[in-house]
Amino acid sequence: MALGVGFGLIMANFEFGKGFISDWIKPFGTIFINSLKLIAIPLILASLIKGISDLKDITKLSRMGGATIAIYMITTLIAVSIGLIVVNVIKPGNSISDETRIELINAYESDADQKRAVAEDTKNSGPLQALIDVVPSNIVSAASDNKNMLQVIFFSILFGIAMILIPEKKSRPIKDFFDSFNDVILKIIDLIMLCAPYGVFALLATLIVEAPKWDLLKSLLLYSLTLVLGLAILIVLYLIIVKIFTRKSPNYFLKGILPAQLVAFSTSSSAATLPVTMDRVHNHLGVKEEVSSFVLPIGATINMDGTALYQAIAAVFIAQTFGLDLSLGAQLGIILTATLASIGAAAVPSAGIIVLVIVLSQAGIPEAGLALIFAVDRPLDMCRTVVNISGDATVSMLVNKFIKKK
Ligand code: ASP
Repeated sequence: MALGVGFGLIMANFEFGKGFISDWIKPFGTIFINSLKLIAIPLILASLIKGISDLKDITKLSRMGGATIAIYMITTLIAVSIGLIVVNVIKPGNSISDETRIELINAYESDADQKRAVAEDTKNSGPLQALIDVVPSNIVSAASDNKNMLQVIFFSILFGIAMILIPEKKSRPIKDFFDSFNDVILKIIDLIMLCAPYGVFALLATLIVEAPKWDLLKSLLLYSLTLVLGLAILIVLYLIIVKIFTRKSPNYFLKGILPAQLVAFSTSSSAATLPVTMDRVHNHLGVKEEVSSFVLPIGATINMDGTALYQAIAAVFIAQTFGLDLSLGAQLGIILTATLASIGAAAVPSAGIIVLVIVLSQAGIPEAGLALIFAVDRPLDMCRTVVNISGDATVSMLVNKFIKKK
């Protein structure tokens, strides 16, 4: 990040600098963002189908399944709502000047034109159109366009449920297939992430020479602070929940989970942190092993409160920078898509920004905004991963309590 900014600043001083960056540096940023978008649909397919079909053993094994999933859903919805409130109050995207905004919009004019056409279409449709749009009439054509991500999610959920409903012997081959498909996709993300430092360098250098506007950088900073504030509120909320329902002090919880939070912060991956989370929750937060050993692995994949909150803030921030006024309906839509996107996100670095495409396209916000926020995404990913695993730990304490009572 620092090298990209420095290089951009230096090049901005030379006559040929801007041309050089847009010809020779910017393409690498574009390639990088394209590769993130490329992996979105396969990732959703693989991780949702695998995630849902894994639930088979869980619901069979234990009555905790239902409670766990219900609490996970509730905490995620709360997280998205907090995100929406914080970003609407602080309005980090509104801090840029009209001049910069017009430049941004002009740069992405074709994208914006497209969105306007879509908006016009929706105006003329009935109240249940959103529901109709979720159900694809053809899965191949649905999967051929990132804009149809919700349709792909719908199909994946249906597919996963059907896999649970047929006899185990029959579903085994397809289950094995999707398990290994999922591993392959995660490896591809790994490979893409190896290039992340170069992508970030290119994106930031481009950002600096194309918009040497301090207000844009300032708004990115404000966006980061807004997100960190939202995440902090969530952590406080966990402490309150833990206190009310399990009578454990904030100190007890924080001391118990801190080592896992540090690992989450440094790896940016809930999956990589899982072994530590399980150890801390079982050995230091007093959760029975039978609870922690199944609540936490599901939580690592489907319960990402930090990521959900981030989706809401990032989407609204991008809309604000482009000067789009999101209606109440659009914001309610974000609650739904951000929840689904956080469930569909894999527990690996940067998965959150990949599935952000879903939220953006559904709300009619220019996907071009991805390039804008990717520049600062890594540190924010580290922070949201901390919250993701803290949320899992909180829910496992609740389920532990609930089971004891029963
Ligand atoms: N890195 C996050 C996690 O593993 C997911 C994300 O990118 O938001 O929990």
